[in-house]
Amino acid sequence: MLLERQVMIKLIAFDADDTLWENENFFFEVHEQYAEFMTKYVPKEEMLQHLHETEMRNLQPLGYGIKAFTISLMEAALSITNNKIDPEDLSHILQMGKGMIERPVHLLDGVTEVLEKLQGRYKLITITKGDLLDQNRKLRKAGLADYFTDFIVVNEKDESTYTGILEKYRVDPKHFFMVGNSMKSDVIPALEIGAHAAHIPFRYTWQHELAEHNGRYENLYELKHMCELLNIDLLKG
Ligand SMILES: [Mg+2]
Repeated sequence: MLLERQVMIKLIAFDADDTLWENENFFFEVHEQYAEFMTKYVPKEEMLQHLHETEMRNLQPLGYGIKAFTISLMEAALSITNNKIDPEDLSHILQMGKGMIERPVHLLDGVTEVLEKLQGRYKLITITKGDLLDQNRKLRKAGLADYFTDFIVVNEKDESTYTGILEKYRVDPKHFFMVGNSMKSDVIPALEIGAHAAHIPFRYTWQHELAEHNGRYENLYELKHMCELLNIDLLKG
């Protein structure tokens, strides 16, 4: 029985942001700095709420990533001040967002070790949301490109996204294992199509990525650390 299970997985996909490298902490820091900076116009909580609403409205037309976020920072500052914001302040906000592109990429603990062990035994790919240019830049900076046969940047991670990718790879969902920090984007849609998934929460979760599940998934692995992937029987083949 164990042997049968051991040969089941053919394709493992990793989410990138907050699964392979730190990301949300940068957004969290900028949210805080921005709201502090804007206290000359509005109370912090009001600004944060307004920014969140602006970001949510912009997801559909602009997608994820730093470019969309920077536009939201500026748009929220303009709208909450009725376009009365000092241009110097707006310029400062532009730099807050744009400056995020210069941040170093910090790999999360255990990532290289785990990829090293899984490489060669499984086909490894990355499936990430975000801006194509920025995600590719981070992959290069992270030095992880050689571990993956594909680095897929998508607009949204839902069931049809995963189904489409698996069709392209001609892999049945039961032979697919998804690893990620977001219950909403990485875990639930993969489980819903009959794949296996590991949830490894990062220390910050964007409000938009929070999701509840009712614990009925047999193929869900709740992990605290990337290295625990290597203890999963299914991945010991
Ligand atoms: Mg993520």
